Amino acid sequence: MQTALADFIRSTPAGREADAILRSCVHCGFCLPACPTYQLLGDELDSPRGRIYLIKQLLEGEPVTARTQLHLDRCLTCRACESACPSGVRYGRLLDIGRALLEERVPRSTPARVQRYLLRRIVPYRQRVRALLGVATALRPLLPRALRARVPSSATPAVPFLALRPPLWPEPRHARRVVLLEGCVQPALAAGINPAAAQVLDRIGIATVRVAGGGCCGALSHHLSAHTESFAQVRRNVDALWPHVAAGAAMVCDYGRLLKDDPAYAARAERISALACDISQLLAANAGALHAALSDAAPITAPDTRAPLRVAFQAPCTLQHALRARGVVEPLLAAAGFTLTEVADGGRCCGSAGTYSLLQPELSARLLRAKVAALEAAAPELIATANIGCLAHLRSGTALPVYHWIELLAARLARG
Ligand code: SF4
Ligand code: SF4
Repeated sequence: MQTALADFIRSTPAGREADAILRSCVHCGFCLPACPTYQLLGDELDSPRGRIYLIKQLLEGEPVTARTQLHLDRCLTCRACESACPSGVRYGRLLDIGRALLEERVPRSTPARVQRYLLRRIVPYRQRVRALLGVATALRPLLPRALRARVPSSATPAVPFLALRPPLWPEPRHARRVVLLEGCVQPALAAGINPAAAQVLDRIGIATVRVAGGGCCGALSHHLSAHTESFAQVRRNVDALWPHVAAGAAMVCDYGRLLKDDPAYAARAERISALACDISQLLAANAGALHAALSDAAPITAPDTRAPLRVAFQAPCTLQHALRARGVVEPLLAAAGFTLTEVADGGRCCGSAGTYSLLQPELSARLLRAKVAALEAAAPELIATANIGCLAHLRSGTALPVYHWIELLAARLARG
């Protein structure tokens, strides 16, 4: 793609990076069928290629409007287009640059500014999320139906035959250690997931270190274009993680790039990114130890048929498109004795996408309905996912139980 970036951005680091990304796009359109918003709306401006054109116009100094902002806001940042692109266009990074600039150029309405401010002030803070959830859960019966579906009921859906273990952290007793970035929303919404991860790692000879001072990975503020705030969260996590060895989320894998121009943090952030991985990647790399531990435990079967439990796995976009760890979880679940059901269109986002379900509720609800239909099609007994946002979103759209897949693995190992 030919470009002629405007003077105000051409010589900046962001301008040079954006220019290189724009030039790598050859307009082929292979990304269009992979894009959920293009599939729903059929408008080229709601496709990756259309958004790339809009960002190009912005960077070339052409006028931009609230319509430009709307099309960029509708993007889920799922990065399915990156997985589909044969030219390796780094769309997600280009979108970051475009959105941040657009935020300065096109003012938002006061309600929209307040909504985004409140999200940034509440969601990254565990105690605030807990307090808000407590109030919302207590008031749940009084809420309008659409809002009620978004608030978890006080009881986790009961699946007695799963026999999930209590959310207890095992004592660290192994020389091999990982640091688990506990996150902000996850401990508040599903307190069993992090201890389940620690229980599984303990069974394969790895101790889990909990970090004092770590918190939100910074993704929420980053995706709302509050980059100063996001970078402060990233630096705080680098300080907290640095004394240890890190295992964490997709955003942590990006810390090295985000802080590459900060001399005080660049080297540490790069090292942490190099060490960071998703727990599925860690377990796949230790498959021998996992299989040995599983051989001591009886498979979990459905109580009525005594057949292996049928699980529909929803692969989050962070796992398959951002971390490019597609197809890593499924063999681990199969090795643990679960039968994985077919799920059509597995690359498609469920519509959770961080704060997207709150900021774009109609599109998010349409994507959720399609995802739940695909997951339920082969009549599974439960749904598993790998991301707390997807988990909460899916629970709001299905009567089937939804769990993090690591909880299923912990439940199986608990039977040994
Ligand atoms: S597939 Fe890649 S190169 Fe082709 S239009 Fe989409 S982003 Fe551009
Ligand atoms: S990130 Fe997702 S929603 Fe956004 S353009 Fe790419 S495929 Fe479409």
